[in-house]
Amino acid sequence: MIIRFERNGKVKHGWMVEDEKKVRVIEGDIYKLQSAKPIMTGLEVPLDDVVLQAPSAPSKVVCIGVNYRDHAEEMGIDLPAEPLMFLKPSTTVVGPGEPIVYPRLTENLHYEGELAVVIKKEAKHVKAEDAEEYILGYTCAIDVTARDLQMKDGQWTRSKSFDTFCPLGPAIAAKLDHQDLRIVTRVNGEVRQDSSTSQMVFSVPQLVEAVSAVMTLLPGDVILTGTPPGVGELKVGDEISVTIEGIGTLSTRVRAGE
Ligand code: MG
Repeated sequence: MIIRFERNGKVKHGWMVEDEKKVRVIEGDIYKLQSAKPIMTGLEVPLDDVVLQAPSAPSKVVCIGVNYRDHAEEMGIDLPAEPLMFLKPSTTVVGPGEPIVYPRLTENLHYEGELAVVIKKEAKHVKAEDAEEYILGYTCAIDVTARDLQMKDGQWTRSKSFDTFCPLGPAIAAKLDHQDLRIVTRVNGEVRQDSSTSQMVFSVPQLVEAVSAVMTLLPGDVILTGTPPGVGELKVGDEISVTIEGIGTLSTRVRAGE
């Protein structure tokens, strides 16, 4: 599992060895590696001595709306004929444990637990069958949404774009069969979303093809692949977690905005 961490004021990538509670520091630029296996510096640090950051620092976060069959059913809406895309700015991204800030401009903050795809190399006009070579791996995400503003505005920029509206992490699973992964969102320990990535309308390779047909994806960019049923409200003080099979658990909490 690849992590991005801060230690002694420096941010680096590392390979997390959870059982041994340590991090092996990765050599050089993780996005320029030729092989799937990162090169290690030989340095190891205790996991307790590092502060986890969002596992990538994307130039943009591309999100897909209504991409789970069971969620479309729940909402009573037709399945989209093409992937429905929107963007979250890079300033929405926060790392594991960094709180979601409840903005004063909304009165209806919602969570959406999602599988996130991290792009490995520049991608433009990529075919679905070639998509895997452009993917570094997968992590967990929360597509935080001000639902009242989404309804009021008629388009989604404001409702999706407040600072802290895209928690990412805790780590990137580099090799993962993403076709049937259990995805569970809990609020204050209670299960709110429990589905499988097998419910996706458009698969991960199809999404890479569709998005890269529009815009150039850069190393570290992230695609959020849509949310399963069970979206709902968050209040100040709530604890939220998203667990995806083969990746781990992203946990955070909601705090009031200034
Ligand atoms: Mg979403």
